[in-house]
Amino acid sequence: CGIVGYIGKRDAYSIVIKGLKRLEYRGYDSAGIMLHDGKDLKVSKTKGKVTDLEEVSSKDNNFFGSIGMGHTRWATHGVPNDVNSHPHLSNSGNIAIIHNGIIENYEPLKKELMKRGYVFHSDTDTEVLVNLIEDVQKNENLKLGKAVQVALNQVVGAYAIAVFDKNKPDEIVVARLGSPLAIGIGEGEFFVASDASPFIEYTSNAIYLEDEEMAIVRLHKPIKVRKIKDDTLVDPYVQELKM
Ligand code: GLU
Repeated sequence: CGIVGYIGKRDAYSIVIKGLKRLEYRGYDSAGIMLHDGKDLKVSKTKGKVTDLEEVSSKDNNFFGSIGMGHTRWATHGVPNDVNSHPHLSNSGNIAIIHNGIIENYEPLKKELMKRGYVFHSDTDTEVLVNLIEDVQKNENLKLGKAVQVALNQVVGAYAIAVFDKNKPDEIVVARLGSPLAIGIGEGEFFVASDASPFIEYTSNAIYLEDEEMAIVRLHKPIKVRKIKDDTLVDPYVQELKM
């Protein structure tokens, strides 16, 4: 299972697809990608291999963007099929998430969200998390990063996540607890991934998140890393990767 994200000026599609192929060694049963073209958020996903995803997504001529997130799924909750593949969108369609790991307390959270009118299309624990983020964001009128943080503090489990909000199309929020997550720092561009292999050809500067840390990756801004639990700012250690 793997995560790749890109935010910058290049064609995110090819970076994400190539990155997903580099993460194939981690094992997976489905693959998906989300792109934002400055206006619309588009998703393509399928059971099967990254080459199957390429085939499915190439049917849409308008599938491009300079912000993208891709995922390879190793199913834990819900069978491997197209609908259960990531990315998952919140009910409003504004927030997209990719997730590696398990949300252990997804059942009570899902029940509560259903009481509040949320509808679920997949059988995954992940779709619960993206709607929880949306619910927190709406109720408390929070920015994406804060909403992700509040939601994660209600979650029991393990995760590496990348979250995108259509209303904040210059940023990706990432967090980790028990699954790896690296951020590649380029010039006017950022990468996020399960390991550095998807971005090593573009930049040799990387931050590896520690467990219980989250980061706001925003274009033309320094990366802000925080502790999920108590909100303390962490001074991130930027590693120089050997090519
Ligand atoms: N628990 C999530 C699912 O089943 C994520 C699985 C993964 O790590 O790929 O969809």
